Amino acid sequence: DMSNAIVAQDEMGRPFIIVRDQGKKKRAHGIEAVKSHILAARTVSDIVKTSLGPRGLDKILISPDGDITITNDGATIMSQMEIEHQIARLLVELSRSQDDEIGDGTTGVVVLAGALLDQAYELIEKGIHPIRIANGFDQASKVAVERLEQIADTVPVSDVDKSTLIKAAKTSLGSKIVSKAHDLFTNIAVDAVLAVADLDRKDVDFELIKVDGKVGGSLEDTKFVRGVVLDKDMSHPQMPRDITDVKIAILTCPFEPPKPKTKHKLDISSVDEFRKLQAYEQKTFEDMVAKVKATGANLVICQWGFDDEANHLLLQNGIAAVRWVGGPEIELLAIATGARIVPRFEDLSAAKLGHAGRVRELEFGTTRDRMLVVEECANPRAVTVFVRGSNKMIVDEAKRALHDAICVVRNLVRDNRVVYGGGAAEIACAIAVAEKADHMTGIDQYAFRAFANALEAIPTALADNSGLSSIESLASVKSRQVKEGNSRLGIDCLNTGNNDMRENFVVDPLIGKRQQLLLATQLTRMILKINDVIVTGTDDY
Ligand code: ADP
Repeated sequence: DMSNAIVAQDEMGRPFIIVRDQGKKKRAHGIEAVKSHILAARTVSDIVKTSLGPRGLDKILISPDGDITITNDGATIMSQMEIEHQIARLLVELSRSQDDEIGDGTTGVVVLAGALLDQAYELIEKGIHPIRIANGFDQASKVAVERLEQIADTVPVSDVDKSTLIKAAKTSLGSKIVSKAHDLFTNIAVDAVLAVADLDRKDVDFELIKVDGKVGGSLEDTKFVRGVVLDKDMSHPQMPRDITDVKIAILTCPFEPPKPKTKHKLDISSVDEFRKLQAYEQKTFEDMVAKVKATGANLVICQWGFDDEANHLLLQNGIAAVRWVGGPEIELLAIATGARIVPRFEDLSAAKLGHAGRVRELEFGTTRDRMLVVEECANPRAVTVFVRGSNKMIVDEAKRALHDAICVVRNLVRDNRVVYGGGAAEIACAIAVAEKADHMTGIDQYAFRAFANALEAIPTALADNSGLSSIESLASVKSRQVKEGNSRLGIDCLNTGNNDMRENFVVDPLIGKRQQLLLATQLTRMILKINDVIVTGTDDY
């Protein structure tokens, strides 16, 4: 019965026929399965390849409900693509892992994985077993990582001499939307990390850096604040706009009388009952405000709202208040001011108050927006970056760019070894791996050569994206690296006339590059070892 059959297309556009009701399970098997997985994964890596590097293109992503994102951040592109294919989704996970651990290099890791899979495909076509390839890649990656560590340079990192950090942040921001306010963002990234870093312990407490943003003004209006910024007003226009020596109570309980627990609604049948209720509410507010006042607090931060009655009482008692403060802000404020978050009025005490030297309203940018800035906190390490931009897309992309740059600076504080960008490090590793292959006799030499070829996908993509002839540029840089023994030579994406990436100051932290290599290899090995996907149910696969 042909009505059960439908014609569909696979990833290559080749038609195939799906016959329904052929049992509940469909399977793809063996080598053929591995090959089809590779093709699926490649589609994804091809998409992000064109956004690699300083000349990479931005992507516009449109969500099902019409939200638009403009970005060239690999992790963002990947996370917003609606990918249903199980194997292709692994690449999304890959870029997320790189993002979680390193924060930068999210495009590169996917391009590298795509290239490794491409190479593996060719070896499978030659008749080499996927497991064999997987093991060969594993060994080759060890050679590459070893080479990476050999060629790494140590750069000075300190808060006195910020030049290295500034240069590294600048490289990271160079390909991003914020290049319009390049210096401002560069300095913000460096200052933010140094404010929260413990240079002796090589530790950066990321939690203390908050990157916030709001539409309005322009990128140049972006501000760095040593303290916490709340996008809120005082709850009453007559409350002071600038308070010093601030004792802060943070409340997560609502400023309102407790609700009757047993009924869902309150029946009021007479004026008298209404008066009683009103009096009860008034009394409750008075008690609550008295409890706050008794602690010595002169500012209350509330997670919830409160009505005019309570607001007025607070004002009368000389207590400033801010309402509807979000959970994350509350937590940050608690860390910064040393306050304990108070969930019940009964728990309020002087010991639980936080302290800040100053809380004031600050005007941001040319628009007349005002924010509350909490400064000179008990814990001076909490900082906030408040990003401004003319529309939401720009603010969001600027926040992502800043996040990447902050990660690069943090990575250098953690480990101040760098390798050179523009594909220089990848070419150096490729040369080392290929050289190893020349001294091998077994089948593994094929996997080694393939691995070396895959590494060259990074400089190739960088050259392609910069409008250079990739074959020529790569060949020239490679032969110069060998001849001159200079592993810092890479693709001159910005046409500076110089291929030495140390002189162009295009550096990538060693830990980021190493992570890319390890993660991409790991993912490739995993895909090579999946030879049976069982899809339960009748969903297409
Ligand atoms: P990712 O998301 O992987 O960080 P990017 O789009 O930020 O991707 O591109 C990073 C790549 O671009 C790295 O390989 C880096 O070395 C290279 N790169 C950055 N700036 C330059 C430059 N000025 N010249 C050559 N290569 C550069």
